[in-house]
Amino acid sequence: MKIVVDWDRCEANGVCVRAAPEAFSLDEKDQLSVLVENVTPGLRAKVEQAVRECPRQALALSED
Ligand code: SF4
Repeated sequence: MKIVVDWDRCEANGVCVRAAPEAFSLDEKDQLSVLVENVTPGLRAKVEQAVRECPRQALALSED
């Protein structure tokens, strides 16, 4: 399971970083990075929360 970011929608407000800091980070230039290649079962609930809470609907989970 992978995290898909719609970079045109992301406004780097950090909501996903607060929900799942193991999976997302913002650098000093407010550029979002995805930290994990594959979402592990232990991280899934937090990442799903980040997907739900993203105010720009910029996040999705992909099965491949
Ligand atoms: S919550 Fe959404 S808009 Fe905000 S930084 Fe994360 S992906 Fe971007």
